[in-house]
Amino acid sequence: MSFEIDLVLKLLKDHNINPTSEPENLPIPEIGRLDETEEIYPVNLRDFYEDDDEEELLSPILDELERVITSNEGPNRRIYHSEDRDEYPCAWYQPIHYFGRNWGIFIRQECLEHAILDIATYIDWKAIYPKKLKLYQCFKVLRQCAFYELYFHEQFHHKVESFGLRLLVSNGRDNYRYYKSKVYRPTFGTDDCLEEGLANAEIFQRINESRYKQRLQPNIISGFKNYLGDTIRGAPPGYRTGVNYLSEAAYKIGLGTLQSQMFGVSLLPTKVASHWQVATHMTRSLADITSNIWVIIPQMGRPIISSSAIDPRGTISTNKVTSTLTKFYNFSVVKGAGKGSHVKLKDQNGRTVVLSGNRYALIEKELKDAIEAVSGQRSLQLLDDFLSGKLTKV
Ligand SMILES: [Zn+2]
Repeated sequence: MSFEIDLVLKLLKDHNINPTSEPENLPIPEIGRLDETEEIYPVNLRDFYEDDDEEELLSPILDELERVITSNEGPNRRIYHSEDRDEYPCAWYQPIHYFGRNWGIFIRQECLEHAILDIATYIDWKAIYPKKLKLYQCFKVLRQCAFYELYFHEQFHHKVESFGLRLLVSNGRDNYRYYKSKVYRPTFGTDDCLEEGLANAEIFQRINESRYKQRLQPNIISGFKNYLGDTIRGAPPGYRTGVNYLSEAAYKIGLGTLQSQMFGVSLLPTKVASHWQVATHMTRSLADITSNIWVIIPQMGRPIISSSAIDPRGTISTNKVTSTLTKFYNFSVVKGAGKGSHVKLKDQNGRTVVLSGNRYALIEKELKDAIEAVSGQRSLQLLDDFLSGKLTKV
């Protein structure tokens, strides 16, 4: 059965849980926020392994990657943890209990780029490059690894919330939020914060699953695991305890302990951890999170992934943008000028906009082109004003 957010919201509402999306004072300090110059775009998990348009993705990172690969310099972790990483973390999960429809996984592209280069230093490229993989293919496998590292960690937080929702349904109690404020929050930043340690161990558990492992070559997997081991060992208190749960047996006991903590809302629960191994799947993801994954890029930045996800914030068609430009901003369609399946519009100052023809959903670049032609600014934050004719023409 598919996951229905409306049913979850009704369940929460019926138990007096009202998500507010106000991150202040939430018992989940790891939540990041968007800088006002940043933008988000939705991605699907499959975007990270399906073929995409190479042209779209050429970026300066390829030059740097080539240098790392050909120098074969060996593990050499870059320091990229800037001062404000606390406020602008690499990734976070916004739970439904607190964010309602704005729930999901958020990942900063900048961190993916840094991780791509870091992971590259852990791989023995001699056996792979350039004989087996071209530079662009190396970039793609590294991009997959970088994504797995952040995604599996955050998806674990969704699994924890899924367990909380199952408890709410079965016992009628709000264990998830109680646990967050009575156990998680007071231990956050210490090695008692089990959830963060397990979230890191989860990355190891997941990449051992054949569906993920089979997509990566053995040399890549072993380099990636060495990278992860070093990263987790060097992580802050709580997060670094992930190394204690790398074996499947240790992970199961750790997970059972976390479930007992949530069940009893106590750091030292009385419920025996192994009991949860009888009730398997209690922490399974409720949502198949192939949607609700967002990548954050700087306003003028270029995505390093071509996304196939449909933006749930709404899609804007060719017709909509064409009629907006002609109705509010004095553009007119240049007949016969659009190449093939394109529509070309022009205003009296000679400014032009070219859109893909008959599209249900225009890509972000074309929406930005249209907004820029009117306002001189390349920002999707102006989209609503653009569509309602409120932008001032420059
Ligand atoms: Zn976390």
